[in-house]
Amino acid sequence: MPAKITMSENGELTVPDAPIIPFIQGDGTGVDIWPASKIVFDAAAAKHGKTIAWKEVLAGQRAFDECGEWLPQETVDAFSEYLIGIKGPLTTPVGGGIRSLNVALRQILDLYVCLRPVRWFTGVPSPVRHPEKVDMVIFRENTEDVYAGYEVEEGTQEAAKLLAFLRETFGWEIRGDSGLGIKPVSETNSKRLIRAAIRYAQEKGRKSVTMVHKGNIQKFTEGAFRKWGYELVREEFSEVAVGWDDCDGKPGDKILVKDNIADITLQQVLTRPDEFDVIATTNLNGDYLSDALAAQVGGIGIAPGANINYVSGHGIFEATHGTAPKYAGQDKVNPGSVILSGVLMFEHLGWTGVADDIIAALEATIADKVVTYDFARQMEGAKEVRCSEFAEAIVARL
Ligand code: NAP
Repeated sequence: MPAKITMSENGELTVPDAPIIPFIQGDGTGVDIWPASKIVFDAAAAKHGKTIAWKEVLAGQRAFDECGEWLPQETVDAFSEYLIGIKGPLTTPVGGGIRSLNVALRQILDLYVCLRPVRWFTGVPSPVRHPEKVDMVIFRENTEDVYAGYEVEEGTQEAAKLLAFLRETFGWEIRGDSGLGIKPVSETNSKRLIRAAIRYAQEKGRKSVTMVHKGNIQKFTEGAFRKWGYELVREEFSEVAVGWDDCDGKPGDKILVKDNIADITLQQVLTRPDEFDVIATTNLNGDYLSDALAAQVGGIGIAPGANINYVSGHGIFEATHGTAPKYAGQDKVNPGSVILSGVLMFEHLGWTGVADDIIAALEATIADKVVTYDFARQMEGAKEVRCSEFAEAIVARL
């Protein structure tokens, strides 16, 4: 019997054998990658005696065409009620309407962690010599920083007002022809993000959590993020984790919590990736870092993501690429990003057998050089297949 996923009183998800999971197919290439991903999910779940009662909900272009709204209330309600959902890419309306549907969903459900695991799968073409050394999990703060949207445009009354206030109150002389943005970074939201990262490290047996920040320049936002992180380790995790300064870099069998400045991090994830494990970072840094890292392990066609609130139990798993409209409906693109977002979802639900089987079958398919166009153009002797054929090849290897 299909049933809801619920959150128990001790903060753990209770997952029935036939959970109802809302999904958004997605715009553009969503019509190709969602059906392909679904056959992989259903086949892998069936192998473990489980079924998923998929519940389609609308958002994006399709929702607008069918009911005149980009993000219908029904869709928000479904994600709210059923806790866990998955989505393909969505068109962001240009010139009005909602700023970004993804950002709207994150804000409405307060999905404060953007989780992006980045690892290499055997056989995937990569621009670096040792992609196998990349195995990081990024926890990107998802609700504040420059993404909070507090901006005023140059030349407007609002900008003039803010400039005058800053001059009179703080003596800040800022050029009159400036646009202005505000970057809020709070103790509460920084700590809940870093808390989630340390707990994840604890559960998954990871060795370190690196806080990535630009605190040397932005002392009271990025620098405070770092300070609050070390504080949190002392306040809540002293039994299982230790900050770098409190152990001289020698954590024993505890999780080492350290920090790194954002610009040097972008170098070091390339030159010595094995020094990074779990990463906890502010919103904008996390955005740059996750795309740079995805490139090292095969690119956007295979980069999964999730937006999670670990307290309320809500989570939306999603492809990190966009709708790639030029390929829409051609049964061509790589469904790997949605498939691996599903893997992440199954891991989150505790269905590790299902998740592991999909990964093994995906690796076996790529090892046989059966790949979509994006990998085929970088691999010698590859057999290029369609999006749906790639999914069928994975199912055959499950
Ligand atoms: P995009 O859709 O991510 O496409 C950029 C390029 O990435 C494509 O031209 C293609 O590269 C590659 N790519 C994308 N999906 C792929 C897949 N499944 N397999 C293999 N390669 C893939 O970015 P965009 O063209 O800038 O954005 C298009 C629309 O998507 C916009 O409306 C944007 O707002 C939206 N968007 C949505 C999300 C989301 O829903 N999470 C995220 C980003 C953008 P090649 O041309 O080299 O083959």
